[in-house]
Amino acid sequence: MSVRIPENLLEDILGRVDIVEIISGYIPLKKSGRNFKANCPFHHEKTPSFTVSAHRQIYHCFGCGESGNAFRFLMRHEKMEFPEAVEILAKKAGVILPEQNNPEIARQVSLTSQLYKINELAVSFYENNLHASGASAFRDYLLNRGIKLQTIKEFHLGLAAYEWNSLINYLRSKGIGLSLMEKAGLILPKDAGGYYDRFRNRIIFPIFDIRSRVIGFGARVMDNTLPKYINSPETPVYIKGKNFFGLNLSKDYIRENDFAIIVEGYLDFMIPYQEGLNNIVASQGTALTLEQIRLLKRYTHNVVMIYDGDTAGEIATLRSLDMLIEEGMNVKVVPLPKGMDPDALVRREGVNSLKAKLQNAKSLFGYKLEVLKCRHNIKDAHGKSKIASEMLLTINKFDNAILRGEYIKRLSEEIKVPEHYILEELNKLKPNVGVRSDEGLRVKKSSLGINPAENLLIKFMLEERELIEKIMQELSPADFTDIRTAKIVSVMYDLFTQGKNIEPSILMNYLSEDDASQLVCESMFMPELLEQEREKAVNDCIARIKVQRLKSQREHLHIQIKSAQSLGDEQKLNSLIKEFHNLIKKGD
Ligand SMILES: [Zn+2]
Repeated sequence: MSVRIPENLLEDILGRVDIVEIISGYIPLKKSGRNFKANCPFHHEKTPSFTVSAHRQIYHCFGCGESGNAFRFLMRHEKMEFPEAVEILAKKAGVILPEQNNPEIARQVSLTSQLYKINELAVSFYENNLHASGASAFRDYLLNRGIKLQTIKEFHLGLAAYEWNSLINYLRSKGIGLSLMEKAGLILPKDAGGYYDRFRNRIIFPIFDIRSRVIGFGARVMDNTLPKYINSPETPVYIKGKNFFGLNLSKDYIRENDFAIIVEGYLDFMIPYQEGLNNIVASQGTALTLEQIRLLKRYTHNVVMIYDGDTAGEIATLRSLDMLIEEGMNVKVVPLPKGMDPDALVRREGVNSLKAKLQNAKSLFGYKLEVLKCRHNIKDAHGKSKIASEMLLTINKFDNAILRGEYIKRLSEEIKVPEHYILEELNKLKPNVGVRSDEGLRVKKSSLGINPAENLLIKFMLEERELIEKIMQELSPADFTDIRTAKIVSVMYDLFTQGKNIEPSILMNYLSEDDASQLVCESMFMPELLEQEREKAVNDCIARIKVQRLKSQREHLHIQIKSAQSLGDEQKLNSLIKEFHNLIKKGD
């Protein structure tokens, strides 16, 4: 949260939306006592530990520790920046953002929305070009390429003309400045000064995000000029590897079928899609990224990869497979013959041929083994060991011991090496448990090393405003040893003194550190105490923190005394020793 947005505004927004309604727009929530539960969208699990409190307007996952308020949920789940999450919820809440009062937000929010707008103008410009009377040769090219007119329209395909500045002139006529055009990645500066259109004499494929906003463009030549495709550069709205081409159209089909077909290119997507294979996405690159996998995981845990039958495709598949398994996805692979891609296959043999191949998709294990068998000689010892060590890397990524055992058995049969040798090799590999990329780290980070007394006091203060006054008299923020609890307490004291609202979902807006926000949620979901136990618990916590404070004061004095001794500073030593005695008396 690098941008400051007035807290009262955030409070206003949070007060008018319901976190349960917002989250259930993305994942199904089930009522469970006072709260709502679901399988956590941020880590792989089979029993729900993701909890949403309607009462507190916060969520918390007991599995991975992810937690926060409605803003945080949108940021994490929809990969939004903070200003964007604020903008969306403000709209929902009917709160008007005073953009002119806050130039920083106004700049950020308006830059992205201006870029979407410019991209949209560019789409309609390119589209008009393609459907103009003079462009029949280009339309014929697409039709001959097997793309139906209806598909051309559905995907808003367009044409960048041969001229150097036709888009510049068009956007200028719409009042768009050159610097914005450049930020949108649509034009390039000339060495001699001035600008020219980035895309010329190419078919344009607009790239949409999951909310069907235009974020960038792919542009393809019609002859054999190289490169065959050029794409938009990264811009504030287009970040490579964070998106799938076509997912905006196919996401509902993917959810319905509970599996996704992953292909590589625009046409590999469009041709099968127009023939009714709709649960498909294009990765737009050779290897999948972690962000792409997590995006897809919102819709299904089952994927079939169809990559081009060339070496680049093969390597991309292998690299992506392990990552998919690590994310808990079920993966199958359709290998295509050399030089074949899904687009060509469907055009040549019809969509049913591709469907048949999907039916017979290879398991990940079988596919990887086949690729390795082509690369190494399975008959000699050296080749066997190479194949085994590659396969074990993948086998080791499975959480499930039964699956691991099954694969080891099959590997042993395939390479004709006794199982116990393979097991021995597997044991040499580091255990894979808990290294699910950053989620594993988060599990370790959460609630480790935090004094439960500090955590509990925060919970009590959040639940009972009157307690803050009492605790303020007893403890200062610096008495809290954890830097996060200290920060939370200091913010709470401030808000209390100013007579402001200290609801947990609102308190979070003042805490920029993710960890501190997480701690607030964690505290709120700690087990409830009975009314009669509360007062004693509060006093115990205060006492415990005081003891801790004394202990650290003593340690500190002890160090000072030692240094005064070694310096021979009699006078200082005497006063320090006196102080030390007073401290001990206080502790008793
Ligand atoms: Zn979780």
